[in-house]
Amino acid sequence: MAGCGSEEPMRTVTKTEAATEAAELLVENADGKIVLTDEQWRKILTSEQYRITREQGTERAFTGKYWDTKTDGVYRCVACDQPLYSSKAKFKSGTGWPSFWEPIDPKMIGTHSDTAYGMVRTEVHCSRCDAHLGHIFNDGPRPTGQRHCINSASLRLEADSSPGGSD
Ligand SMILES: [Zn+2]
Repeated sequence: MAGCGSEEPMRTVTKTEAATEAAELLVENADGKIVLTDEQWRKILTSEQYRITREQGTERAFTGKYWDTKTDGVYRCVACDQPLYSSKAKFKSGTGWPSFWEPIDPKMIGTHSDTAYGMVRTEVHCSRCDAHLGHIFNDGPRPTGQRHCINSASLRLEADSSPGGSD
């Protein structure tokens, strides 16, 4: 490979190495935020996760991992692991994306007005790492009337290990 400018031999990154690398990168700054470069995010995320969380992408309806999931648990940010939504607030919206009527805690998410595509929508992202999650609409069920329309690719479900807990 003379002249290519790279002296590092090709190596296979094992899952353990990738996880260790992610853990080392995911360090909060003084504001409690995780701010990484695009290059660092690319190391942690798959190309689909990167496209959606860092480039405001949207997965195709009915193609994501969680649109029809009924497992009890906590949906965490796929990028930084912050808990975002509970399965208790998940409902069947018929849209083809996982939908929730409220976050676990309003502090876990941030929003801003998104005027892309000639529409005014409320964009929602992880408050800790700014990963794009989806959009919030006002046609959801009670008690909030909100529909948080979230990309599966932005989430990682941590299933409850003790079904039927006494909480
Ligand atoms: Zn996050």
